[in-house]
Amino acid sequence: MRRHVDFALARRAVLRDLRTGRLTRLDVCDAQPELLRAARNAGDHLDADCPVCSGPDLVLVSYVYGDALRKANGRCIDDAELAQLARTHEEFWRYVVEVCPDCGWNHLHRRELHGRRHAG
Ligand SMILES: [Zn+2]
Repeated sequence: MRRHVDFALARRAVLRDLRTGRLTRLDVCDAQPELLRAARNAGDHLDADCPVCSGPDLVLVSYVYGDALRKANGRCIDDAELAQLARTHEEFWRYVVEVCPDCGWNHLHRRELHGRRHAG
């Protein structure tokens, strides 16, 4: 299994569909309130403008998923929590989502396997 999955191609396809009118802003700027809150509070700022509204507040938000994570499963986490979970669990997924809190644009950026099994 690959440890990293990058969704750059899918992102380009979505933005192309937006430019050509096959998708509307309503389709691609549908971030849920919880995701917007996480973006404002715990997002990692990207050195890039929003591809939809050109806003300067584009961020990455991380979520973790794994049965063994128990309480942390599905939670939004920061780098310190990620390191802590990676030390104490065998394997889990981190989903990194790109979010613009200004217009609600959101897209899965990449997916990574973490945990002791993948350390080093
Ligand atoms: Zn935006």
